[in-house]
Amino acid sequence: MEFNAYLDGLPIYEPGKDIDAVAREYGVKDVIKLASNENALGTSAKVIEAIKQNAHLAHLYPDDNMSELKEKIAQKHKIKTTNIIIGAGSDQIIEFLSHAKLNSKNAYLQCGISFAMYGIYAKHCSAKAYKTTSKTHDLQELKELYKKHKDEIKVVYLCIPNNPLGDCLDKDEVYDFIKFCDKDCVVALDCAYNDFAAFKDSKKKIDAKDLLDNFDNVLFLATFSKLYGLGGLRIGYGIANKELIQSLYKIRAPFNVSNLSLKAAVAALDDEDFVKRTLNTNFNEMKRYEKFAKEFEISYINSYTNFITYIFEKKNTNDLCEKLLKKGIIIRNLQSYGMNAVRITIGKSEDNDRFFDEFSKIYVL
Ligand SMILES: *Cc1c(COP(=O)(O)O)cnc(C)c1O
Repeated sequence: MEFNAYLDGLPIYEPGKDIDAVAREYGVKDVIKLASNENALGTSAKVIEAIKQNAHLAHLYPDDNMSELKEKIAQKHKIKTTNIIIGAGSDQIIEFLSHAKLNSKNAYLQCGISFAMYGIYAKHCSAKAYKTTSKTHDLQELKELYKKHKDEIKVVYLCIPNNPLGDCLDKDEVYDFIKFCDKDCVVALDCAYNDFAAFKDSKKKIDAKDLLDNFDNVLFLATFSKLYGLGGLRIGYGIANKELIQSLYKIRAPFNVSNLSLKAAVAALDDEDFVKRTLNTNFNEMKRYEKFAKEFEISYINSYTNFITYIFEKKNTNDLCEKLLKKGIIIRNLQSYGMNAVRITIGKSEDNDRFFDEFSKIYVL
């Protein structure tokens, strides 16, 4: 059978091994997953309660205006509800943006290594990709590449901070870059981990309202999957000027987010204590990962997220990851990005203890 040509260049997404699969395949109990940047503390008790309270609504289609959640998000960012679009994860907003702006005659720009979905959705639209030679965000190089292909580039992704490497531009650098871009080019600021970055260094904080006040061509992306612990519920959002939001809306299918996800997200925004505990735990546990790396002379990227990237010179990460799996520990191998490196999600204290213990034994062998 013949399919659209753009499918030829598209691999089927390979999800990392999940806990049950590892338990089965390797015959280990108590598997821990430090691979998908999920919340170390799990899901907030208040969210679980909200899901239970609303479970009886499962037969109903959700409120397609999503008014309750939009009001909450609008309050949080001090913006209007007409500046918000909600998706099944911020992934889906990236998909909408790609379909709204990209096609076979234009291109998007990103740094050397960034979130894989930018490239995948661009391929759905047969658009070209420009990537800097620098793996992390290098403002100068991004500008040069943009300038060179200015007429072609219609979307730029800045991942603030960057997944899977953890690097993060300063807010001033981000603004400098936005000002450098054409009005017809959308600069998408992927802020999936921005709260983690701002907690560590206020120079990294991206403010959605300030963006709206200053730029018409910026899309701010946020997710409930990481800091708010709702990865399994698939919910995220985008903030932009009304015209851009309305264009994205044309691509959205009705009822794209489930009613229980909407209720959970409202409860998640209300639980400030959970958010604070998540940020504090991550900050403190991150220090242990840095100390561990120094002790074993492993290089790492200074991270502004809830994960850390360890880079290896001699030891092969395929081998390291396989040995860890046998011990019931899942981390993310970055070989598929062409790096002999691993990305480790900062877990809760006990899980990190176990990682340090097992990893040190494997590493010195
Ligand atoms: C996790 C993540 C997202 C969004 O994930 P969803 O679960 O689809 O909301 C977006 N960008 C980056 C960089 C991420 O790491």
